[in-house]
Amino acid sequence: MTTYDVIVIGAGVAGLAAARRLHDAGRHVLVCEARDRIGGRVWSDASDPNWAIELGAEFIHGDEVSTWQFVRQLGLATTIAGRWDGRRIWYNDTLHDALTLFAVDNSLPPLTTIEAQIAAYAGPDISFAQWLDENDYHGLARHLADIRLAHSAATTPALASIHAMQADILQGEHLGGNDHHIVGGYAPIVAALAQSLPIRLQSVVTTIREAGDQCRVTLADGVVLTAKRVIVTIPLALLKTGSIAFDPPLPTAKLHAIRQIDMHGGLKIALRFRERFWDDTASFFSLVDPAPVWWTTSPDAPYLMGFFTGPRAAHIGAVTDPIATCLDLLTAVFGDVVRAQLVGWRMINWSVDPWSLGAYSSVPVGAHGLRPALAAPHGRVHFAGEATAVDGHSASVHGAISSGWRAVTEIEAAHD
Ligand SMILES: Cc1cc2nc3c(=O)[nH]c(=O)nc-3n(C[C@H](O)[C@H](O)[C@H](O)COP(=O)(O)OP(=O)(O)OC[C@H]3O[C@@H](n4cnc5c(N)ncnc54)[C@H](O)[C@@H]3O)c2cc1C
Repeated sequence: MTTYDVIVIGAGVAGLAAARRLHDAGRHVLVCEARDRIGGRVWSDASDPNWAIELGAEFIHGDEVSTWQFVRQLGLATTIAGRWDGRRIWYNDTLHDALTLFAVDNSLPPLTTIEAQIAAYAGPDISFAQWLDENDYHGLARHLADIRLAHSAATTPALASIHAMQADILQGEHLGGNDHHIVGGYAPIVAALAQSLPIRLQSVVTTIREAGDQCRVTLADGVVLTAKRVIVTIPLALLKTGSIAFDPPLPTAKLHAIRQIDMHGGLKIALRFRERFWDDTASFFSLVDPAPVWWTTSPDAPYLMGFFTGPRAAHIGAVTDPIATCLDLLTAVFGDVVRAQLVGWRMINWSVDPWSLGAYSSVPVGAHGLRPALAAPHGRVHFAGEATAVDGHSASVHGAISSGWRAVTEIEAAHD
């Protein structure tokens, strides 16, 4: 039987980045992926040849993060989505330009410095909701702070740890604060990471058993594979359900981290219109619940993308007709043209995706500092994936990529 140097479990970007590096260094590597496709939570809908529609990750968060390496290598075009500049906000029945609104409403200017305020916080770990109370964020300012920092992190102000938020802000500060769209989507990056890698699709790993200097990896169909080392990149929500059995069992500290760190839901709705009826500058707008954030998927695309996380995702996923709910909300903003121009839609609910069971990880009050335990190797079994990113970049593509590279560094340091 072949003994691989490394078996990587999961062909999301963390697994692919790890496998790419190992393969390029001449290691005998195999990737086992449960789905019938690669990419995991990066998934481009290719049904429209003209525009990339991202069902999972869509933006590059930051001006200097690791993803840029691939964007530059592949010569991909990007567009910028500023933090507040260019954002529209639905308020008092009008779609306002954010900065103009901030100039007339005294309660809103703190939003432009909210990250700096959180970075300067010196108290105990409290929820983001309590921090908002203590810093007089009410009404629209509170809603926008939630959308910007809690909803986008797939958590809620009541759950989110201010210490974890602060650490992420401080660690990410030097990487720039803008979001960027890749005009043609993430697919070329996934393809470049995966090029010529041995990837076994529809291969569900059920057990990892370490014995002596080998790991035995058992698949759901009974196939047993062996490797000197294994990198596990499955989403945190699947570690929570115990979908892979570990022998020897995972240590208490790792199990504690698995239980304590959250992974809530995420849902996207892409609405396709005959033509664009919205203003060119309305590339990103904040509305009211239950559909609080919308954007245009690329500069000239006739698509609006709605994004829902946590309880908002659960709510919209449970209503009888989510599309009608969204159309009602958008009609209140743009008028009857919304229904008249609609030609199609696509909805994906990551909470019910069996190989994800949620959107991405987040840290509740009291769980800050547990990610290193989640990331720590367990004998010859290494852990990567967005939830294990210990550099403040969890919940992102670049954090997942870096976590895969970190696991490779651990393996290289072991000098097998
Ligand atoms: C809706 C949504 C929007 C997002 N938006 C952004 C964004 O704009 N920008 C950004 O940077 N990030 C974004 N993210 C986060 C980003 O997509 C993730 O952080 C990243 O893709 C995670 O990569 P990963 O490799 O860690 O995990 P995954 O991509 O989940 O890869 C893990 C793989 O393991 C496989 N697997 C699971 N169980 C098994 C098993 N037992 N055996 C074999 N294989 C298994 C899964 O099928 C999956 O392919 C978004 C995520 C979602 C869901």
